[in-house]
Amino acid sequence: MNPEDVLKEIAEQSNVCTRCKLHYSRKNGVPGSGNPHSEILFIGEAPGFHENQKGIPFVGAAGKFLDELLNAIQLKREDVFITNVVKCRPPSNRDPDTEELEACRPYLDRQIAAINPTVIVTLGRISMGYFIQNGKISSIHGGTFWSNGRMIIPMYHPAAALHQPSLREVVKADFLKLPDLIKKARENRQDDPAATEVVDIEQENQPLSANNAQQLSLF
Ligand code: URA
Repeated sequence: MNPEDVLKEIAEQSNVCTRCKLHYSRKNGVPGSGNPHSEILFIGEAPGFHENQKGIPFVGAAGKFLDELLNAIQLKREDVFITNVVKCRPPSNRDPDTEELEACRPYLDRQIAAINPTVIVTLGRISMGYFIQNGKISSIHGGTFWSNGRMIIPMYHPAAALHQPSLREVVKADFLKLPDLIKKARENRQDDPAATEVVDIEQENQPLSANNAQQLSLF
């Protein structure tokens, strides 16, 4: 299947998914949007109020800031793919719990395999935890790690900068490093055939262990 078809199938499945309790309050699933062939994948935490209304990721205040950050490096939303670790809104925007993260994991795993990005930017603590266990975002934001041949760059969530204005410049500075890091990731990318295998949702995927994500270097 080509990436477009896989992503379409994931969108259809996640919109009617009942794998966890978040479906009870779902108005719209938010599978993700953007370029299915993007070299760079942004992964946020979970849809909020506005995203649940519209079915599109990052359309609220944090999304506006994300657009600004992308513009600063001459990228538009349509150039990249943006998704979240969970596809349905947790009530009152609480953090997704372990059961919800595990229930949604196969969707994200399939998206990663289908898009096959060279660089994955995690936005916030929760999506960072998908690749890097026991990481402290205040220490490792803007650094580079490798998982399955792809470069992982943990960053603060754009909403964190809205709540804590001193983080705004930190987030911007991390974003400004992206064009160079993308180049370096292209040069150092190691293709792992297993990492592009699109596994059916019914099959449970193995969670990434701490050993799968290794810090290579801080460029
Ligand atoms: N915050 C997220 O993590 N994801 C969204 O889609 C919106 C806000």
